[in-house]
Amino acid sequence: MAFQDEINRRRTFGIVSHPDAGKTTLTEKLLLFGGAIHIAGAVKSNKIKKGATSDFMEIERQRGISVATSVMGFEYNGYKVNILDTPGHQDFQEDTFRTLTAVDSVIIVIDAAKGVEPQTEKLMNVCRMRKTPVIVFINKMDRPAQDSFTLLDEIEEQLKINVRPLSWPINNGPDFKGVYSIYDRSLKLFDPSIQAIEQGIDFEDISNPELEDHIGDDAETLREELELVEGVYPEFDRANYLEGNLAPVFFGSALYNFGVQELLHAFLEIAPKPQPATAEERVVKPEESGFSGFVFKIHANIDPNHRSRIAFIKICSGTFVRNNVYKHMRLGKNVRISSPTAFMAEQKEIIEKAYPGDIIGVPDNGSFIIGDTITEGEEIHYKGLPSFSPELFRYIENADPMKSKQLHKGVDHLTDEGVAQLFTSQFNGRKIIGTVGQLQFEVIQFRLEHEYGAKCRFEPLQIHKACWIESDNNQALTEFKKRKHQKMAKDKLGRDVFLADSQFILQMAQDEFKDIRFHFTSEF
Ligand code: GDP
Repeated sequence: MAFQDEINRRRTFGIVSHPDAGKTTLTEKLLLFGGAIHIAGAVKSNKIKKGATSDFMEIERQRGISVATSVMGFEYNGYKVNILDTPGHQDFQEDTFRTLTAVDSVIIVIDAAKGVEPQTEKLMNVCRMRKTPVIVFINKMDRPAQDSFTLLDEIEEQLKINVRPLSWPINNGPDFKGVYSIYDRSLKLFDPSIQAIEQGIDFEDISNPELEDHIGDDAETLREELELVEGVYPEFDRANYLEGNLAPVFFGSALYNFGVQELLHAFLEIAPKPQPATAEERVVKPEESGFSGFVFKIHANIDPNHRSRIAFIKICSGTFVRNNVYKHMRLGKNVRISSPTAFMAEQKEIIEKAYPGDIIGVPDNGSFIIGDTITEGEEIHYKGLPSFSPELFRYIENADPMKSKQLHKGVDHLTDEGVAQLFTSQFNGRKIIGTVGQLQFEVIQFRLEHEYGAKCRFEPLQIHKACWIESDNNQALTEFKKRKHQKMAKDKLGRDVFLADSQFILQMAQDEFKDIRFHFTSEF
């Protein structure tokens, strides 16, 4: 197949949701269509279950699972679909945000009864920041749901995006009859007793009285609501969707595999193929012949005896070929990748070639960190993998003086992996770990002990937020650092970070030092 066709047929996307809205269920149903799995229940939720075991033991268990589900690729109707998995637990949202830098589009799952939830909003903020096209799937229509128009209003208001329904539900809960597909003008009837792929009934003209034969009294309501939909929402405009300004909306029930195939078909047609990626030097098009890609995720293996890791590389341009010599930009040296794996169906296998939009897994013993670029030789460095301001902070102390080397190495590795961020106080030289969730401290402690044989202790540190600072005015910067010297730190790359005690102090600092720019993500 021609290189251009390989690009055109790829769809690389992420499914995101507030926990419990149905992300795992939808993912599984999509994989069933692709023949990537054959039985329901094959996809393990990567959710951290509360209860039975302690949270971080649960995380360890999940870590085993999520290596396998990090990327799920399958072929469907001539398309190559790559679904990137994202962690459900909010303490790991940074992981999710980073994964979103490797997708070309996103499907957001919303629970029809609960509507927009806090995590949904945060995830949408990241999509908006990156102008990622999103499709909304309103799930669980088999259960009592909020009014559909109310849901759409809520999405527009809280997710700050225009919507355009492309399917419309006929009732909900016990009276759920199905959906009318506005996208392909057909009627899909819901039958909870068969979880089969629904056969649509073509229904070009909904004023046809035959509609009553299928859905009885609900026909009239459907006609009225569809009329309202056409009146309120402008025609679906794909360009608008691709720019990230308009979200098409579908309704269904992932559990019953209802509305899912329809979503998949529309998705394949309208969702973007691999898009250009922005490097510091220039924008790189997928069609360019020179291979390039970047590491967006590093996964440690669960086996404590083998401290091996897998670096996940998103291919941005050209053709990746196994065993070719490529350049590792940060280290300035050549790398040869001899056992790249791809994730097809239920299997992980060594691959010879991969194309833009694909993700390859590369065994790594410490030479990659998140954000690394590899290319065929050209000096480019991909952007778009920001660290977010952490919100929880602890001093990290060595609890076993005999093992300080191990501790050092462990902390270094774990922070490369993106488990947490490391800062060094410029005031007292102490190491500070910053995270977005409490759980990460437990993960660090546990993994240091089990993977590196090191023990650590955390000491409390009251900080509201860390922010990266910079200025064109050197004098102002020096003055600021002098005034705030007790609260200045360096991040791992040696950049200046201000540790603000409170929102008030941060606000004061911003008001007083107009020449200084305060950044809440590491990329600016
Ligand atoms: P996630 O946390 O977003 O991955 O959510 P899951 O896919 O794990 O779903 C959470 C719960 O909702 C599970 O018990 C699912 O069986 C259930 N669920 C998912 N989709 C539907 C649906 O369409 N209808 C109903 N009734 N339950 C659903």
